Amino acid sequence: SLSIGIVGLPNVGKSTLFNALTKAQNAQAANYPFCTIEPNTAVVPVPDARLAALAELVDPKVVTPATVRFVDIAGLVKGASQGEGLGNRFLANIRETGVVLHVVRAFAEDDVVHVHGGVDPARDMEIIETELILADAQTMETRVERLKKQAKPGGKDKEASEALACAERLLAHLMTGQPAASVPDADEPAMAAFLAENRPITAKKVIYCANVDEGDISGESPAAQAVAEHAAARGAGFAVVCARMEEELAGMDEAERQEFLASYGVVKSGLDQVIATGYETLGLISYFTAGPKEVRAWTVRRGSRAPQAAAEIHTDFEKGFIRAEIISYEEYVRHGSEAKCRAAGVMRLEGKDYEVRDGDVIHFLFNV
Ligand code: GDP
Repeated sequence: SLSIGIVGLPNVGKSTLFNALTKAQNAQAANYPFCTIEPNTAVVPVPDARLAALAELVDPKVVTPATVRFVDIAGLVKGASQGEGLGNRFLANIRETGVVLHVVRAFAEDDVVHVHGGVDPARDMEIIETELILADAQTMETRVERLKKQAKPGGKDKEASEALACAERLLAHLMTGQPAASVPDADEPAMAAFLAENRPITAKKVIYCANVDEGDISGESPAAQAVAEHAAARGAGFAVVCARMEEELAGMDEAERQEFLASYGVVKSGLDQVIATGYETLGLISYFTAGPKEVRAWTVRRGSRAPQAAAEIHTDFEKGFIRAEIISYEEYVRHGSEAKCRAAGVMRLEGKDYEVRDGDVIHFLFNV
């Protein structure tokens, strides 16, 4: 499933945002008995109107949304990578996450002290990026040292020599102040394997998140625009949130939520946008299972074949996969039930090479 790590300078609104997420999690906790919940993580439902529409038609005992895990990755300040370093906990936390959510202060609020003076998103983003690049460079230095010992003279240990060449190439690139994501020839097989194994922080996809004032929800202020421009220049994702507003929203039921958002002239909350952008950034899609016991959304990578998608439900489903009965979400809603879709001939039987599409309602047939 999707995991998003929250980073940013102190006082930019990370805790406020994380509190909102924890509130949302706790309001839902009974629905996720399968999730272990740790203090720095919050597991929240992926908003998906299609799930509610299917549940309305099927009327199951349980409705289970897909979930996204947010991880609060505290501990980034200017100079963090020098001195004591970023700390193993920080590095372990950030390595595990699929996408980095870089929160940037774009709200004014004079009585909130900015750690580096006034509100200046370009400078703030640069400070954080530099720290992350330095952290990767430190890791690479250690890696180079170790690989030098492993790669015997004359390049006899071929694997180690290849890895060493990659480590040195990546280190040189990082030392020019650029993120691992832009290392040249990243898709060359040796480098691709090296990146996959070492997972540098700055190779991760990033969503830049402008934390704005209540009055700037559409993100039109110069500060929010500066964040948007930076994201565009990097080819990264972008979202606008108002962390304080998210805190209020987290305590509301769906009807109150809609009304509150409408009063600001928006349909989606900032965090909902973040989740949607996260899906897009990582190339994730959702499919559904729908029966009288449970209607549920599942997350898979775009391009997944039917057996891989089945493995999300249970690993045995992949091995024993026979076929999948598939109804597109649109057809399901148009006809109103599985039986009616069957009768109308819009249920398809697909084999192991079928590429699952966003919104497919799937019934897997398998051997146990
Ligand atoms: P952190 O250090 O990044 O975790 O920042 P905090 O979440 O503790 O926020 C720092 C201060 O900024 C607090 O006083 C918050 O109330 C305030 N703050 C956070 N988000 C917003 C926001 O969206 N708008 C405004 N006006 N203030 C905010």
